[in-house]
Amino acid sequence: MPNKMIITCALTGAETTREHQPALPVTPEELAAAADEACRAGAAIVHLHVRNDDGSPTADVKVFKKAIDLIRAKSDVVVEITTGGAVGMTPEERIAPVALGPDMASLDCGTVNFGNDYILNTLPIMRQFASEMNRHKVRPTLECFDVSHVQSSHILIKEGLLKPPYHYGFVMQVPAALSLSPKTLSYMMDQMPAESHFTLMGIGRAHLPAICLAIASGGYIRVGFEDNIYYAKGRLARSNAEFVERAVRMSKEAQLEIATPSDVRALFGLRGA
Ligand code: ZN
Repeated sequence: MPNKMIITCALTGAETTREHQPALPVTPEELAAAADEACRAGAAIVHLHVRNDDGSPTADVKVFKKAIDLIRAKSDVVVEITTGGAVGMTPEERIAPVALGPDMASLDCGTVNFGNDYILNTLPIMRQFASEMNRHKVRPTLECFDVSHVQSSHILIKEGLLKPPYHYGFVMQVPAALSLSPKTLSYMMDQMPAESHFTLMGIGRAHLPAICLAIASGGYIRVGFEDNIYYAKGRLARSNAEFVERAVRMSKEAQLEIATPSDVRALFGLRGA
């Protein structure tokens, strides 16, 4: 899809708290309002984690269902749920919400350091997650935190568990994982098979460089409180939508149109395309 930029908004994540970012959406109602606002601003996809009422991360299917239903009642934005979950969740907990039939889900392609913690993604877990997504006709975003993760995805492709077009999510500058630079990104890109797309996620201070690199390299953009809470040095973003609005402006300056949810459904072969 030349000349169209897909913007994903990761509304809340699992780690950011209200103490860090007072505008963080937490309840299903707040998530739905934030998703609607992000979609109106130009996001075609929302990446969804859910929380308990006290703000702690959960993979409770009932909470996911409520959030997805409320989001879908407000807009046609593409809903991508996490299966990375949060540090400490079991693989069974992480994959369960896929049965709700979101449009897309993240599929982590390898174990990764997360600061002092880690998220475990062995090949058997990856196979199990890919099979479940196929069973429920949910398209994966292949989240890669390292070059070896892109290479690991080739094993699933060879085994017939993934089908083109592939959508990769390169998550870079997670503390204690791979940093973001033109060199590391180009090595990641080199490992992608034919018929691949990628969204670039720069964590924390890598946020703006990632947007610029995505525009320059034919990739797509992700913004949102999961990845970054500061709009500028020392100034918290007012909302997820404020990040989307800036990404839209930057893309348009680069002569890119902004992809709609239906563009994404057609391009990635999502249900209902
Ligand atoms: Zn996430």
